[in-house]
Amino acid sequence: MRTQIVAGNWKMNKNLDETEILLSELSAKLPDSTAEVIVAPTFVNLASTVRQLQNSVIQVAAQNMHFAENGAYTGEISADMLLNIGVEIVILGHSERRAYFGEDDALLAKKVNTALDKNMRIIFCFGEELEERKSGNHFSVVESQLKNALFHLDQSQWNNIILAYEPVWAIGTGETASPEQAQEMHAFIRKTIKDAYNDEVAEGVAILYGGSVKPNNAAEIFSKPDVDGGLIGGASLKCDDFTAIVEAI
Ligand code: PEP
Repeated sequence: MRTQIVAGNWKMNKNLDETEILLSELSAKLPDSTAEVIVAPTFVNLASTVRQLQNSVIQVAAQNMHFAENGAYTGEISADMLLNIGVEIVILGHSERRAYFGEDDALLAKKVNTALDKNMRIIFCFGEELEERKSGNHFSVVESQLKNALFHLDQSQWNNIILAYEPVWAIGTGETASPEQAQEMHAFIRKTIKDAYNDEVAEGVAILYGGSVKPNNAAEIFSKPDVDGGLIGGASLKCDDFTAIVEAI
């Protein structure tokens, strides 16, 4: 059986005090879960988060990183800096990075390569915009996002890839893909990977759904056979909501 994962992307929310409070609440209330639970606070609070969670099963991810080893990249963070503070997972390709910071498939392929060279795990986000779905291009958009950023990888490198299908029209909008839409796309993604690689890679990779997952819709979405968990934005900022979503899996 594939690993099931619930990851919380806190985005640019929670200062240090608020981060400590939410982590304490989560540590106390999270149910024993066979799923992996990951939180991704903002960069400045990552080191303290790792320290606070050192005896916890909750894992820590960064929301982004640069592809270069080090150097003159003002404001950026390297893989080594993350590893040095104990962060071994990174979210790459989030639609907000693509839309507001111009991150394209070529840049993301470089980031993916660096993270994998450093033996980090990647939560790789991708998904179509509303217009692309309305015009019926959602499958081809998703296919090309995967091909351009990931299909140069060797089979063994896929062990460190977690996929997060996030239709852009469902992120932070309160509008969720229906469980059937999620399953349809996740099955398509798995088939696309099978065609490019083989059954082993396709069946082994966890594919998370992201886009307005809430306590009231999580169980139905997670019940679909090709949905292996969720990447959660807004609802990961409240202990009760995030806990309920973990319980749903
Ligand atoms: C996200 O930003 O990855 C996300 C899924 O956000 P939300 O859950 O708020 O839609």
